[in-house]
Amino acid sequence: MAISYPKDLLRDLLEGNLSPERIWEIQHAPKDSDRCDKVVSLEQERVPWSERIIVCLQEHLYIVEKRGERIIKCSCGHEFGDYRTNWKESALVYERNPQDGEVYFHTRAADPDFMVLREFYCPGCGSQLEVEAVPPGYPFIFSFLPDLDS
Ligand SMILES: [Zn+2]
Repeated sequence: MAISYPKDLLRDLLEGNLSPERIWEIQHAPKDSDRCDKVVSLEQERVPWSERIIVCLQEHLYIVEKRGERIIKCSCGHEFGDYRTNWKESALVYERNPQDGEVYFHTRAADPDFMVLREFYCPGCGSQLEVEAVPPGYPFIFSFLPDLDS
């Protein structure tokens, strides 16, 4: 029998109000068939803007419909443009030397000639949106391009 979690429970899950044990139970159970619709509905209630969310791309980022266009928008309202372009191209970027001691202890950090930690931040709210561990000079990774019409 398919599980269908109550919307209040999923809200608590999204807002980090559940115990690690309860999160583990939910993550290891079969996915409820109406989860996507409920999560989109909950996220729509949480954001301060009114454009319709089509897809929750990742934490803070959504594909929304605005005046007939599909754009990527941050929870703060900052707009990154067409969803088919890489939002990282218009984010704030910091390339961290992996040996700077902030993330890894020196002996555990990669050689900066072989890897950088590329951090992406929203220009609107400063939220860290993603971190890539890549060779220096590597192009920005295009994380996810959903097929919205199928
Ligand atoms: Zn933002």
